[in-house]
Amino acid sequence: MTSDVSLGAVAPDNPETLLELRGVSVRYGDALALDTVTLQVKAGEFVVLLGPSGAGKSTVFRCLSGLVRPALGEVHTLGSPLGALDGRALRKLRRAIGLVFQQHNLIGRLSAVDNVLTGTLARTPLWRVLARRFRMVDRQRALGSLDRVGLLDYAYRRADSLSGGQQQRVAIARVLAQGGRVLLADEPVASLDPESARHVLATLARIARDERMAVLCSLHQVGLACEHADRLIGLRGGRVICDLPARSFDQRAERDLYGGGEAACDPDDTAEPCHAAEAGDR
Ligand code: ADP
Repeated sequence: MTSDVSLGAVAPDNPETLLELRGVSVRYGDALALDTVTLQVKAGEFVVLLGPSGAGKSTVFRCLSGLVRPALGEVHTLGSPLGALDGRALRKLRRAIGLVFQQHNLIGRLSAVDNVLTGTLARTPLWRVLARRFRMVDRQRALGSLDRVGLLDYAYRRADSLSGGQQQRVAIARVLAQGGRVLLADEPVASLDPESARHVLATLARIARDERMAVLCSLHQVGLACEHADRLIGLRGGRVICDLPARSFDQRAERDLYGGGEAACDPDDTAEPCHAAEAGDR
């Protein structure tokens, strides 16, 4: 076991693999949730996990954040082999992973900037948190993070006065303020209208590109995934069915993944699927 967690910088011209599963199988009791899954996300990439409910998408996130241990295979997050880390190193690593969920868990009565500041709590003394006397450098970092998600003008608005999409972007800003290099987003737009969903996904794509973060996001909407992702990984029954650039995701890939099922008729997905868009104006 090691307590060493390297969270170092990476040269932009040599993108580093920051999230990786190698031949990972996960069981919950008798059920095989992941079956020899291999995938990678590099610095600067925005990768979307697609697949029907129960395909194993959330289990991939749980593996990458060390919440479940695989029965087989290796998990590497930020270059560290999770199976070799002791409890302390694993906790340190988890603090370096940005998480965004469908429920953004903002505190409604606090301003957007104070919510972002809660992302810095791990390195802030308790008395400052209780008195809400954050250091100027943290406050500036929080404002900078809101600026990067296009919400600087909303910094002093109460979180519960913002739209659902804006609240989700505050949650993304909170991750940016943590200063991590990886972001896991588990169905971050599931409860948003299509326009807000587009805005949130465009924000995730931009921060992957501009901040050189590795962003892995699960979605149900194929069209939105094609519109924003660099690469799509399709999971079905715990297996990787496809792993390809978003522009190469065609009708056949969609049929293989869903079998003409749920995503194909998602009423909220107003974006053109990749194959339709290829024929049209993309
Ligand atoms: P997805 O996120 O794609 O919907 P999950 O990763 O949540 O899929 O689930 C993958 C499989 O593992 C499903 O068959 C699900 O029923 C099963 N599963 C998930 N969590 C548990 C659990 N805590 N206990 C037992 N089975 C689980």
